Amino acid sequence: MAGVTRKRTCLVYDDLMTRHLQGSTSGCEEAPKRLTAIYHHLEETGLIEQCLLVTSRDASREELAYVHSERYVALMHLEPAAFETEVESRKHRTRKVHPAPGRIPSDIWATLGTQPSILRAAGSLLNVVDTVLDDTALNGFAIIRPPGHHAHPDYPAGFCFANNVAIAAKHAVAQHGLKRVLIVDWDIHRGDGSQDAFYEDPRVCYISLHRGEFKFYPEGTEKFASSTGAGAGSGYNINIPWQQGGMTDGDYITAFLRLVMPVAYEFAPELVLVSCGFDAALGDPLGGCCVTEVGYGIMTRMLMTLAGGKVVLALEGGYKLEMISKCAGSVVRALLGHEPEINLVPLAPSLAGLMDIKSALDAQRSIPNSPWKSLKSYDGNSVDYDATFSTVQTPGNLPNKESVDSLVADLDSLSAK
Ligand SMILES: [Zn+2]
Repeated sequence: MAGVTRKRTCLVYDDLMTRHLQGSTSGCEEAPKRLTAIYHHLEETGLIEQCLLVTSRDASREELAYVHSERYVALMHLEPAAFETEVESRKHRTRKVHPAPGRIPSDIWATLGTQPSILRAAGSLLNVVDTVLDDTALNGFAIIRPPGHHAHPDYPAGFCFANNVAIAAKHAVAQHGLKRVLIVDWDIHRGDGSQDAFYEDPRVCYISLHRGEFKFYPEGTEKFASSTGAGAGSGYNINIPWQQGGMTDGDYITAFLRLVMPVAYEFAPELVLVSCGFDAALGDPLGGCCVTEVGYGIMTRMLMTLAGGKVVLALEGGYKLEMISKCAGSVVRALLGHEPEINLVPLAPSLAGLMDIKSALDAQRSIPNSPWKSLKSYDGNSVDYDATFSTVQTPGNLPNKESVDSLVADLDSLSAK
């Protein structure tokens, strides 16, 4: 990066990534205008000119192979027209969560612009990571699509083709020699591809906050709090699954204070990567939650206290254009070190949210030889989470009355036994 002016925050964006369409030009939420809306908002608010714009580039075969199988990498490196034909011909006719080997889920579409966008998204994020790890910028934000965190080693899924953030984490380890990379995934959907990529790897700690109901995409039990990693990676996979929609800034910030940040400080990452979906945001058509731009800004600022401030956010989901633009503006303002927005959003957690956070804590605390001493009480004299949680009063911002009523009824029946 010789000759490049050093700035605090770097960004990457490339119009090429708007050429990928999920199926027809209309109807799918994962649309090109997500990128242009964010970019134009950052331009109009004067944030772009405060950032270092990083050159975009394609990911190489070797870089895709950090995460993806030889067969799938070969598919992603076909010419665009051949790629489109192959993807469409290998698709399952019926919806399957895990396709047969070599097949592709039915909710994936490819057009002529898809293959170039895949390579450009993954490679451009690597340029942001390199810019930060080379100390040319302190932190960065990659405005990229298609998103990545559902992409599995052998197949695309859930609008995702190459697992951009997982590739970036492996790149940081392989090319920069990092020993500890933290991924925080606040997209409302569990990053199943990312979880799988690092499930037995203690070098990459993966923390995901997501909707945890069985039927919520991606279906299955792997998104439960009990999925805590395996082998050497035991404890390094942390799921915080919400059991309902409606989660607020207060729920997310409480999860950060109680679980994400204590673990993150102990882990002491050398780089923080954020799978930055904005589909937990208020009004998102898929997420059903209520996080505001203020909440995203606060979470970003908390993560900036880690890794000497080396934080890189990569866009994942988020489908309400006006909201994702505002949220992107808020996280870029945070990265630039601007003062936080002031408003009166309630920051108290809901009772249901607290119970979900407690479940995640309990899952981690039950791991034999858990790496996280901060989550354990020692000698009975430290924090007693059970007592702390049971004394929290129900605040006014409950996600929905029915789910809380049934939770309270469950608790009542348990205590009556
Ligand atoms: Zn999502």
